[in-house]
Amino acid sequence: MRALRVVAGIMALSLAGCGLVPAPSEGPTPPKKSSGVVTKSLDDVERYWREQYPKISGGQKFQPVTGGFHPYTESSPPLECGGQSADYQPNAFYCPDGDYIAWDAQNLIPQLQEQFGPLLVGVVMAHEYGHAIQARLGNTDQQTVVLEQQADCFAGAWLADVQAGRSTAFEKPTAEQLDDTVAGILMLRDQPGTPAVAEGAHGNAFDRIRAFQDGVQQGPRKCAGYEAGNLQVTEVPFSTRQEAASGGDLPYADAVNLLAQDAQAYWTRTFPDIADQQWQPIRVVDAGQAPDCGDQDAAVEDQAYYCPGQDFIAFDTERLGPQLYDRIGDYAVGMVFGDLFARAAQDRRGESTTSTAGQLTVDCLAGSWTNDQLTRDQEDQRIRLSPGDLDEAVAALLAFGKAGTGGPSAFDRIFAYRKGVLEGTGVCV
Ligand SMILES: [Zn+2]
Repeated sequence: MRALRVVAGIMALSLAGCGLVPAPSEGPTPPKKSSGVVTKSLDDVERYWREQYPKISGGQKFQPVTGGFHPYTESSPPLECGGQSADYQPNAFYCPDGDYIAWDAQNLIPQLQEQFGPLLVGVVMAHEYGHAIQARLGNTDQQTVVLEQQADCFAGAWLADVQAGRSTAFEKPTAEQLDDTVAGILMLRDQPGTPAVAEGAHGNAFDRIRAFQDGVQQGPRKCAGYEAGNLQVTEVPFSTRQEAASGGDLPYADAVNLLAQDAQAYWTRTFPDIADQQWQPIRVVDAGQAPDCGDQDAAVEDQAYYCPGQDFIAFDTERLGPQLYDRIGDYAVGMVFGDLFARAAQDRRGESTTSTAGQLTVDCLAGSWTNDQLTRDQEDQRIRLSPGDLDEAVAALLAFGKAGTGGPSAFDRIFAYRKGVLEGTGVCV
């Protein structure tokens, strides 16, 4: 908050052209069999657009890319694109000049496949193909960040077709595969502090995942309508040099104290709107010294939970807190408080916190607190969000909420959280 750090463990990537510059790996990665996945994906994306393009182009027929698909390596660098140098870069891109798609088959794509699974490779290729679609629609005269999110949205629209079982390249993805894909998008975000108007800006992860989920849920027509005037962009630059220097993180102890106070004040003010009662201040105790809770409603294993029977919040300030702070950033700690206070609110209004729907309401309510932090008057602010905080929230949800733990997937939890962030309490209950 009030200045954010670049998150270790997530390895923010900067993006060149349309693509992706991965964090340096240890030594060269030997080429792997990724080209099969890439060309199968691209063929399937082409199948998708053959069917869908006429629906967003006023009936015009789809023309597949004429310049082909081109893997490259250090020893066999990419073709020249519009007079730009053909130097090797760990990247993937669409070249409008030659109407072709090229990718680094030596490092980037094998790394993404290994770390996040083949579906992310398909999504990256669908994103690149999205730029070819933009060229065909003739709508490329827009801010880079709009074009990039539109390409993310087109990739999501293709993914919905995969989910519907129509893909020739992929089986219907599991919730785990979806979460891995979202984790990959998180890694491909801009560096925190990038202004959305910057040349080459693709968006923070919060916005890119929104665009991607928009495509999944609402289809290519919604994506085709993206323009600067209707796209809510949360990516902002650091406001002061000091904030940039701190990376946007408060000192840990300050973050914990201010977040707890801020959550208490927020719920005191807001709770009467969603329940017919006042908010009673809730005790926050250190997990190491917490009384026995009996039937524990654990949020993050045993290190952070809301105890409904005795109505207190327990949080491990010695281990879990510092781990999240160091690995992700201060707003990951914010997400723990956001979740626990929202869980208490949900329980106090007599609703489930353990069903899938209940968990998603908790996530939405946690988002409503973030919404308040973003929109309240400046003088009311104990804390203010910094560039990168929303991405830390997404990273935290991926860390707590990955599919396979029995509850809803992180994909769904991020969607619910974002709804609260963008629209406030009213949409949650
Ligand atoms: Zn792009």
